Amino acid sequence: MKKEKNDLMEKIISLTKRRGFVFPSSEIYGGFAAVYDLGPYGVELANNIKKEWWRSMTQLRDNVVGLDSAIFMSPKIWEASGHVKGFSDPLTECRKCHTRLRLDTLLEEIDVLADEKMSEEEINKIFDANREKIKCPSCGAKDFTSGRSFNLLVQSNLGNFTGDWTKEPVYLRGETCQGIYVNYKNVLDSARVRIPFGIAQIGKAFRNEITARQFIFRTREFEQMEMQYFIHPDKTKEAYNYWREARWQFYLDLGFKPENLKWHQHENLVFYAKEAYDIEYNFPFGFKELEGIHARGDYDLTQHAKSSGQNFEYLDTISGEKFVPNIVETSVGVGRTFLAALCEAYREENIGGDERIVLALPPRLAPIKIAVFPLLKNKPDLVVRAEEIYHSLRQKFRCEFDDNGNIGKRYRRQDEIGTPFCLTFDFDSLDDAMVTVRERDSATQERVKISDLDNYFSSRLS
Ligand code: ATP
Repeated sequence: MKKEKNDLMEKIISLTKRRGFVFPSSEIYGGFAAVYDLGPYGVELANNIKKEWWRSMTQLRDNVVGLDSAIFMSPKIWEASGHVKGFSDPLTECRKCHTRLRLDTLLEEIDVLADEKMSEEEINKIFDANREKIKCPSCGAKDFTSGRSFNLLVQSNLGNFTGDWTKEPVYLRGETCQGIYVNYKNVLDSARVRIPFGIAQIGKAFRNEITARQFIFRTREFEQMEMQYFIHPDKTKEAYNYWREARWQFYLDLGFKPENLKWHQHENLVFYAKEAYDIEYNFPFGFKELEGIHARGDYDLTQHAKSSGQNFEYLDTISGEKFVPNIVETSVGVGRTFLAALCEAYREENIGGDERIVLALPPRLAPIKIAVFPLLKNKPDLVVRAEEIYHSLRQKFRCEFDDNGNIGKRYRRQDEIGTPFCLTFDFDSLDDAMVTVRERDSATQERVKISDLDNYFSSRLS
């Protein structure tokens, strides 16, 4: 079973490279660890994931508004939030091959519960009791240094003209939500929102991850989709349960199988948190965090109020009550959703004696919705008419034109990209003004009038 799952991961990595979804960063220079680039189909898939999230979190709601805060922020923000002191993972190093590893992950692999939030001392105690059982995954040695906390914030020298920037570093943001907290007042004063309301943001985050071995699951540069919901303290439980349900439903609506999702409750809560659950996805390397849903109390606003000297109290104009809002956060990575969507969609099938790989992505996520083919490349009558249809359909749908190779080969290519429909203009089309439309999952074909194509695809792709 484990081997099958490893194979699946290998197959997905190979498909995404071969078909232009994901490329390792800086490949021609030997690569750059734990950073990836999105290729032509990858950027479409990622954009569709973000579109779905944005639609579900803002467009379909009365009280959630958007924000796009900058990646660079005052370093004071990261001090106030606790990241400069406490945003760290426990690190150990293999004394033989010098591979750096996350201590909590090593312990997890031998089924010993450890948490990144434990103190250095606590985690080292557990480590020492289990040293005999732990092997370096790179060289097999059992000789490790003691664990130490390793800060994950990525530093930069932006705007430092005095010389030693390590003494006054600026940080690339480690999470997008800090930009939301520090703009809470701006939004409240400008967007005509009243509590309860949410602020949603999609953007890049950066972390100096110690081990990043699981393809795009854990990268040093990644995109987050986060929403912070501001509420009256008494309404925390209600809001928390609401968002737990809403976020679970989001994945079901994307077509994820319920058996591939599960809840994981955090046992060691940080001191300010009221509740914390993750939605885990059944990745080929096991159930792992896809999204975190956390009740954060008033910690974030209180910290920034204290540190900036601003007043973050909210005045309820009806009851006259003043309070610092509590926050429920939902936070998920685009890359992890991307990988989960690929795992969910990847299939190997035998259709009519032919082997094929198909990405059965829901049409909303598919990078290309319709591929348009002339039956033969060297027949101008067919090519010109197919091009006309392509130009017309692409006004509304993401389309691709392909006249390369035989039709079977073109179908295989589109199956691997996950294109729900292929349309072929053939010799009969010249007489009957109809084309052959082939559906990806069933591989069935039907003739559709050219004049009906717009309606046909509008309803089948909705
Ligand atoms: P993990 O325990 O896997 O390191 P985390 O608990 O540190 O994750 P959060 O800080 O809660 O993660 O971030 C919220 C979401 O952002 C995660 O659920 C995940 O989807 C995404 N995310 C976090 N770190 C990374 C990363 N290094 N690469 C890709 N996505 C990430």
